[in-house]
Amino acid sequence: MAALKVAVVGAGVIGLSTGLCIVETCPSCSVTVLSEQFSPNTTSDVAAGMLIPHTYPGTAIHVQKQWFKETFSYLFAISNSAEASEAGIHLVSGWQIFKNPPREESPFWSDVVLGFRPMSKAELQKFPQHQFGQAFTTLKCDCPPYLLWLEKRLKAAGVQMYTRKVSDLWELQSEYNVVVNCAGIGAHHLVGDEKLFPVRGQVLKVHAPWVKNFIRDGDGSTYIYPGIHRVTLGGTREKENWSLSPDPGTTKDIFDRCCSLEPSLQGAQDVKVKVGLRPSRQSVRLNREVLSQGGVKLLVVHNYGHGAGGFSVHRGTAKEAAHLVAECIAALPGSSSRAKL
Ligand code: FAD
Repeated sequence: MAALKVAVVGAGVIGLSTGLCIVETCPSCSVTVLSEQFSPNTTSDVAAGMLIPHTYPGTAIHVQKQWFKETFSYLFAISNSAEASEAGIHLVSGWQIFKNPPREESPFWSDVVLGFRPMSKAELQKFPQHQFGQAFTTLKCDCPPYLLWLEKRLKAAGVQMYTRKVSDLWELQSEYNVVVNCAGIGAHHLVGDEKLFPVRGQVLKVHAPWVKNFIRDGDGSTYIYPGIHRVTLGGTREKENWSLSPDPGTTKDIFDRCCSLEPSLQGAQDVKVKVGLRPSRQSVRLNREVLSQGGVKLLVVHNYGHGAGGFSVHRGTAKEAAHLVAECIAALPGSSSRAKL
């Protein structure tokens, strides 16, 4: 019997991790990744890759917490393995600081990260403008190495990857049994999703190897996230702004804000400016859909709209998407013979 064919559209962190979970869940399927861009040219390459969840107002908190827990456990295991440096995954400790104490004393993810606690008075002396803070250890992905590591795992599992812009999901109907939409902000045009909008983010990637702790100003408007090779300084959140051009005034503003939190950054070198469009929605779109045209059906699984938190929840949502693909396959005619997938 010919293998069932699954196409994944998109090669950011969501498409690649979803492809990998499909291979793990349905080992007899033939999986292909089709994408207009691959690393280093995706939004996922621009991200800081910190595991600090963003809250999706339209999704139940227990679901978001489960996605985060699964992602944290998966990356924690990688960080504890010989793969850690190639995959770009490492633990990082630091502080989330507030000028006014937040409404909730502890966020929903406080018992998933490690050692979450209020900052001591002595620690807060580092931030004279701030009254309150939380210290914890979390994980960080260095994004381009992590995406390359995922690509390598996919290739080793026999997944084909092609550069291709998909203008309409129906283009794929004759060749694939199931199509998985992981197009990020591209889904706005690809499936005409008006609920999906960009939140533009500009960041600086600098050489400052002496900065070892992360610093996040409460609402996440200013942050300093040290990675293995570069420190990410941010940021901006500009709703409905589609521009991918760096703005020099914003670069200076980000740099000044970060230096006010960590004055030693005045000595940072080799400043590179990056811009990305967060694919934002009230909730991640993670569902099955059966499209129908003139009696012909196309089975689709959507997994996009991760906004400011795609890295923080990617493995959890990828696992759920892979289960939806398995359900689509089980519902195909003659599915009993495919029960073992
Ligand atoms: P993308 O990375 O954009 O991938 C989409 C893919 O689909 C691309 O390969 C694209 O080429 C392809 N595609 C689109 N349309 C088509 C089409 N029609 N045909 C074929 N292919 C198509 N998240 C965190 O968790 N932690 C952070 O610290 C963090 N920091 C961030 C900082 C910034 C400045 C930004 C911008 C984002 C940050 N994020 C962070 C959010 C995170 O980057 C996103 O949630 C995540 O990258 C979304 O991944 P994605 O795979 O859905 O999208």
